[in-house]
Amino acid sequence: MRDINIGEELTHDYATIDGGAIKYEIPCNCGAPTCRGTISSGDWKKKEVQDKNKGYFATYIQKKIDGKLFESRPPALTKKSA
Ligand SMILES: [Zn+2]
Repeated sequence: MRDINIGEELTHDYATIDGGAIKYEIPCNCGAPTCRGTISSGDWKKKEVQDKNKGYFATYIQKKIDGKLFESRPPALTKKSA
Protein backbone atom coordinates (compact mmCIF):
# COMPACT_ATOMS: atom_id res chain seq x y z
CA MET A 1 0.00 0.00 0.00
CA ARG A 2 1.07 3.57 -0.64
CA ASP A 3 -0.08 7.18 -0.57
CA ILE A 4 -1.99 8.31 -3.66
CA ASN A 5 -1.97 11.54 -5.62
CA ILE A 6 -5.00 13.77 -6.24
CA GLY A 7 -6.67 12.67 -9.45
CA GLU A 8 -4.82 9.36 -9.60
CA GLU A 9 -6.85 6.47 -10.99
CA LEU A 10 -7.54 3.84 -8.37
CA THR A 11 -7.57 0.13 -9.01
CA HIS A 12 -8.63 -2.67 -6.73
CA ASP A 13 -7.55 -6.29 -6.36
CA TYR A 14 -10.75 -8.35 -6.36
CA ALA A 15 -8.89 -11.16 -4.61
CA THR A 16 -9.30 -9.22 -1.36
CA ILE A 17 -13.11 -9.22 -1.51
CA ASP A 18 -14.13 -12.16 -3.69
CA GLY A 19 -14.10 -15.59 -2.15
CA GLY A 20 -14.97 -17.42 -5.36
CA ALA A 21 -18.69 -18.17 -5.01
CA ILE A 22 -19.01 -17.56 -8.76
CA LYS A 23 -16.22 -19.03 -10.90
CA TYR A 24 -14.54 -16.75 -13.46
CA GLU A 25 -11.23 -15.93 -15.08
CA ILE A 26 -10.85 -12.67 -17.02
CA PRO A 27 -7.98 -10.57 -18.36
CA CYS A 28 -6.90 -7.64 -16.19
CA ASN A 29 -6.01 -4.28 -17.72
CA CYS A 30 -5.05 -2.46 -14.52
CA GLY A 31 -1.64 -1.57 -15.88
CA ALA A 32 0.18 -2.16 -12.61
CA PRO A 33 3.74 -3.41 -12.97
CA THR A 34 2.82 -6.24 -10.60
CA CYS A 35 -0.37 -7.18 -12.49
CA ARG A 36 -1.09 -10.94 -12.61
CA GLY A 37 -2.46 -10.57 -16.17
CA THR A 38 -5.69 -12.36 -15.35
CA ILE A 39 -7.94 -12.30 -12.34
CA SER A 40 -9.89 -15.32 -11.25
CA SER A 41 -12.28 -16.32 -8.53
CA GLY A 42 -9.54 -18.39 -6.89
CA ASP A 43 -6.84 -15.73 -6.69
CA TRP A 44 -7.26 -15.34 -2.93
CA LYS A 45 -5.89 -18.89 -2.58
CA LYS A 46 -2.54 -17.97 -4.17
CA LYS A 47 0.29 -17.61 -1.67
CA GLU A 48 1.79 -14.61 -3.48
CA VAL A 49 -1.60 -12.85 -3.47
CA GLN A 50 -2.07 -13.59 0.22
CA ASP A 51 1.41 -12.26 1.01
CA LYS A 52 0.92 -9.09 -1.06
CA ASN A 53 -2.49 -8.26 0.43
CA LYS A 54 -1.91 -9.41 3.99
CA GLY A 55 -4.07 -7.37 6.36
CA TYR A 56 -6.38 -6.13 3.59
CA PHE A 57 -8.63 -9.12 2.93
CA ALA A 58 -12.33 -9.06 3.74
CA THR A 59 -12.86 -10.77 7.07
CA TYR A 60 -14.61 -13.83 5.61
CA ILE A 61 -11.79 -14.41 3.12
CA GLN A 62 -9.16 -14.00 5.82
CA LYS A 63 -11.02 -16.66 7.83
CA LYS A 64 -10.89 -18.96 4.80
CA ILE A 65 -7.15 -18.34 4.48
CA ASP A 66 -6.71 -19.06 8.18
CA GLY A 67 -8.76 -22.25 7.86
CA LYS A 68 -11.43 -20.92 10.22
CA LEU A 69 -14.21 -20.78 7.65
CA PHE A 70 -15.17 -23.63 5.39
CA GLU A 71 -17.10 -23.67 2.15
CA SER A 72 -20.80 -23.87 2.82
CA ARG A 73 -22.89 -26.29 0.85
CA PRO A 74 -26.63 -26.15 0.26
CA PRO A 75 -28.57 -28.63 2.36
CA ALA A 76 -29.12 -31.98 0.73
CA LEU A 77 -32.53 -32.44 -0.85
CA THR A 78 -34.63 -34.93 1.01
CA LYS A 79 -37.73 -36.67 -0.18
CA LYS A 80 -40.75 -35.63 1.83
CA SER A 81 -42.80 -38.48 3.15
CA ALA A 82 -46.56 -38.12 2.88
ZN1 LIG B 1 -4.08 -6.14 -13.12
